[in-house]
Amino acid sequence: MLLDNHGRKINYLRLAVTDRCNLRCFYCMPEEGLNWLSRKELMTYEEMLQVCSLLVKMGVEKIRITGGEPFVRKDIMKFLTSLSGLQGLNELTITTNGVLTAPYVKELKNIGVKSVNLSLDTLDANRFFSITGRDEFQKVMSTLGELLKHEIEVKINAVVMEGKNNQDIIPLVELTKDLPVSVRFIEEMPFNGDGHLYTGLKWDYVRILEEIKDRYPDTKKTVDPLFSTSYNYQVPGHKGSIGIIAAYSRTFCGTCNRIRITPEGVLKTCLYDNGILNIKDRLRDGATEETVKAVLLDAFNNKAKNGWEAERLRTKNQGAHESMATIGG
Ligand code: SAM
Ligand code: SF4
Repeated sequence: MLLDNHGRKINYLRLAVTDRCNLRCFYCMPEEGLNWLSRKELMTYEEMLQVCSLLVKMGVEKIRITGGEPFVRKDIMKFLTSLSGLQGLNELTITTNGVLTAPYVKELKNIGVKSVNLSLDTLDANRFFSITGRDEFQKVMSTLGELLKHEIEVKINAVVMEGKNNQDIIPLVELTKDLPVSVRFIEEMPFNGDGHLYTGLKWDYVRILEEIKDRYPDTKKTVDPLFSTSYNYQVPGHKGSIGIIAAYSRTFCGTCNRIRITPEGVLKTCLYDNGILNIKDRLRDGATEETVKAVLLDAFNNKAKNGWEAERLRTKNQGAHESMATIGG
């Protein structure tokens, strides 16, 4: 079993396969996009597979593929298929904006993907455009339909922002009435690539819950699964459920079981750190599997206690200004 220096089990890797994206979510990146990584700077699929295989041998059981938008990277399905064959990997999941995803859903089901996180902040096409900068609402809804049709578990991720989509909280909760989806409201974090000034959190987990309980006073707390980052609830009689993720308040660090690898191969042992080491560079310098394993273990043995400590210890760019597309969420 892989443990960190605080006795927490590490068994979950979030791998961002690209920093590129076909949307421009207000809270994630500026309209002009980012200073995209060149092909040479990106980890190749072979390198990613090598690192994933090593981490699975070391104790990682679950891998989430994220980005940027995973489905904008060429040949992503070939990579996912190879990954799904790793011995010892129990769960392969994906976070996607759903714009290009619908045609791949059947194949995802075939390779054993049982759950997908779909980002959808609003059920209103005009607000979708104002949040994402692109007129793609219908494509995301058809991905939702395909996922449900193929009985893939769906978690809908909605970042709650004052004046942008706080009016969508109740309609999104209402989606759980007839659909077996889990709608998860996420506190906005400062990772917007400086697309806008982060002025502090207006909708924290307490206020989001109050808004829901105001409309549905019977909303019940349900048991939070082990390592869950969300507080979970259900409106009695609804098929689906609700989660609230205190991503900025960081109430979940005590049970953190995850590590992240960015598209350029940087290991992050906390969402709020600014990168511990570049694994891709080690591989390209000819490091053996044993050496890479040793540096990884060293990083896990020096994991920050929580997101506040990790943020304090950042050495460059002081504050957390990077885009979430370079972290993976
Ligand atoms: N492009 C894919 C998508 O949007 O689902 C995957 C990558 S995206 C960076 C992963 C998750 O991070 C999304 O659910 C998105 O809503 C969330 N996210 C992005 N920027 C955020 C921010 N500033 N605060 C909170 N969540 C954010
Ligand atoms: Fe793209 Fe996802 Fe960021 Fe939106 S949240 S801009 S879809 S990477």
